[in-house]
Amino acid sequence: MNERIFKDKKLVIASHNKGKIIEIKALLAPLNIEILSVYDFHIEEPEENGATFEENALIKSTFVTQKTGLPSISDDSGICFSDINNEPGIYSARWAGSNKDFDSAMHKVNTAIKKVRRPNYDCFFICSLSISWPDKFDVTVSGKVHGKFSWPPKGNKGFGYDPIFKPLGYDLTFAEMDPNFKHKISHRSIAFNKLINLCFPDLKC
Ligand code: IMP
Repeated sequence: MNERIFKDKKLVIASHNKGKIIEIKALLAPLNIEILSVYDFHIEEPEENGATFEENALIKSTFVTQKTGLPSISDDSGICFSDINNEPGIYSARWAGSNKDFDSAMHKVNTAIKKVRRPNYDCFFICSLSISWPDKFDVTVSGKVHGKFSWPPKGNKGFGYDPIFKPLGYDLTFAEMDPNFKHKISHRSIAFNKLINLCFPDLKC
């Protein structure tokens, strides 16, 4: 696994998702560096044609680093249901369509799982994070949180597929949990902690 201490003065967030930009900015705020985003450069989105979350994260960060000449960080995430061959997986955002209709995406998951003879309801959220540098070096990590599919959708605190995901060991969906608690156990925080160990050891608490 690659590792490199981040010593640069600027880092570009390679995402067009404003929610992710806010979340990543907050996580990196304690670093004394300038955090920029694709909106500071008017960069288009690259085609996410990787076969895995890690490949897609790397596609986004290398694209933005090539365009800006600066190091950049990206996030690719989604949910996988074991009963339906780990779908929607890398297509998690696309299952909700261009109007981001997650209600319809969650119903699609339920309809598909209902057709399975002996469902086990196992599922996991996964988040891959990549940092790319202009000298073509990169660090990519992933974090997973396992859980069970839960129907009907419950809670209104989260986003995306949160209302149908119960992390193992809890009787609440991610959307019923306090967001600060979700952030402590989520796939994104697991991936971020790995990245902090490899690139930002000063951020460790
Ligand atoms: P991406 O922007 O291509 O990485 O799409 C990620 C998609 O995965 C989002 O649009 C959500 O549907 C889903 N997703 C990722 N992380 C979470 C989460 O923490 N809660 C709920 N849905 C998530």
